Amino acid sequence: MPELSEIVNRIRAKGRQTESSRERDGAAETRHDWDGGEVLDILSQPLLELVDAARAVHRCYHENREMQLASLLSIKTGACPEDCKYCAQSAHYAKTTGLKRETLLDVGDVLEKAKRARDAGASRFCMGAAWREVKNGEAFDSVIAMVKGVRALGMEACVTLGMLTEAQADRLAEAGLTAYNHNLDTSPEFYGEIVTTRTYQDRLETLERVRRAGIEVCCGGIVGMGETLADRARLLQTLANLDPHPESVPINALVAVPGTPLADRPPVDPLDLVRMVAAARILMPLSRVRLSAGRRELTKEAQILCFLAGANSIFYGDKLLTTANNDVADDLALIEEAGLSVKPPCST
Ligand code: SF4
Repeated sequence: MPELSEIVNRIRAKGRQTESSRERDGAAETRHDWDGGEVLDILSQPLLELVDAARAVHRCYHENREMQLASLLSIKTGACPEDCKYCAQSAHYAKTTGLKRETLLDVGDVLEKAKRARDAGASRFCMGAAWREVKNGEAFDSVIAMVKGVRALGMEACVTLGMLTEAQADRLAEAGLTAYNHNLDTSPEFYGEIVTTRTYQDRLETLERVRRAGIEVCCGGIVGMGETLADRARLLQTLANLDPHPESVPINALVAVPGTPLADRPPVDPLDLVRMVAAARILMPLSRVRLSAGRRELTKEAQILCFLAGANSIFYGDKLLTTANNDVADDLALIEEAGLSVKPPCST
């Protein structure tokens, strides 16, 4: 098995070779044949060596100081028929979480919120609907209008709507959707402990449809649900062996919501998140690694360690779907203190 330094040197050399090229991103050679042992070995490195290695890869492939702020809005809340054990929006736990179902938000409302997010510095607007799958009709037509409206604001648009057909993926692509979020959550082996109402393979097939439609893939997972280190490695291996890699990789720490089956899980060690971010950066050098749910529990030092390890996006705004998120003013102060710059929206 190659040493970490050998792996990193190879990735960095490729980065340097392609750095001068205008087509750097397209030309970079990424690996899609990681074996489980290699990934586990990376994840298990001494922490500072792992962060050093990830930082070296990050500097070869990314504008060093740029952080993307993404806002995430729940456009249809609650009553989801799926049984994801971490989720407050599942109808299976509605009695114990007490979460009230809400109907799909109005297009104008959503676009007003997107505009406010853009004016506050976000360049990506993500919209989540608690659906098992997309159904054609009025609601989907509204989502299409939301996507068009967000793009017209000069923002990247991402949606997460559950499973979808090829024709629906094509409609989203035509509307200008930047990315579709569909997380694998965890390893294939541990997945059945977390979700029983759809399979890992269902998830992979949805991702294939998204990719085939020409939409970018946003796909990551959650740590802290009771999985082992080997499960975390298998999740990263599965993501890194997708070809091409997901352009966006959200790394979440479980937010243990009262009333859900995972309510009593102990908090995630922030250094475990740092490890996941660093390993994701090494395995998927071009992807945007997003420090996502659970950031509220991190000190600013832990967040900065995640940035050093290669996280180059945070979710920004008071709420992440149904859970509270970091204070916007604190986030801006943190970015300034860390000497980072904010990715601007694209021109309209
Ligand atoms: S599919 Fe999404 S909204 Fe539905 S229960 Fe799972 S995580 Fe929650």
